[in-house]
Amino acid sequence: MRQRDKTRAGAEIKQPLDVMAFGAHPDDVELLVGGTLAKLAKQGYRTGAVDLTRGELGTRGTEEIRAKESAAASEILKLSVRENLGIPDGHIEKSQDHILRVIRVLRQYRPRLIMIPHWEERHCDHVHTSELVAEAAFYAGLKKIETGQESFRPFRVLYYVGRMGFRPSFIVDVSETFDTKMKAVRAHQSQFHRGQEEAKAGEAQTFISSVYALEVFETMAKYYGAMIGAKYGEPYLMREAVELADPVAFFREFPDGRLPHLFPTP
Ligand SMILES: [Zn+2]
Repeated sequence: MRQRDKTRAGAEIKQPLDVMAFGAHPDDVELLVGGTLAKLAKQGYRTGAVDLTRGELGTRGTEEIRAKESAAASEILKLSVRENLGIPDGHIEKSQDHILRVIRVLRQYRPRLIMIPHWEERHCDHVHTSELVAEAAFYAGLKKIETGQESFRPFRVLYYVGRMGFRPSFIVDVSETFDTKMKAVRAHQSQFHRGQEEAKAGEAQTFISSVYALEVFETMAKYYGAMIGAKYGEPYLMREAVELADPVAFFREFPDGRLPHLFPTP
């Protein structure tokens, strides 16, 4: 990655990305924002994903297997870009080296929006990813931090939900791309339950390899979908307030009569 950065440094960016999602491990982005990425790609936007580590501390799979699985999942989600920063799994510290790796990838692809884990999470690697990328996104805009590339700061940072839940700023209806998302998740074959075949192989069990794990993620998508009257939803939180030029147009009814949000009224 660092070698490739050097050769690409300063290279002209023909078309910046619209969205770039960051995950700590190679299957995080699929699980937590896969429906949104698939939907945006379908709408013609340029999407990308960056995994900070190769997930080498994971109980199952190897670096090589996981890299192949990521490539297959990226195809399914129709990502324009998938990068791995090669930060050691379990050591996502906010070091100068790690901040620079994130700055380089941001300046290279210039995404308008970035998606990162919420700062409150069960897995320490996700918490550290949230802090590291948020900080790097700010510093990427400072000219005097030199990487041989033009400075750049993403327009907005969107936090995605993990296991702790939150009250979102907005929810994306992913009903139409939920199947695509789950297909991309299952491309990470070493991580998820594979029935009989797995029992024969006698593989170690983890939370996400259990029969129930995929049901948990589906239930979460249904839970957030229910808040907007959709079958499946993926929630996002922003630290800033959202400016609306035209609230009347924004809060219009959908053509099918649904309202954009269905929070219960007192
Ligand atoms: Zn993870």
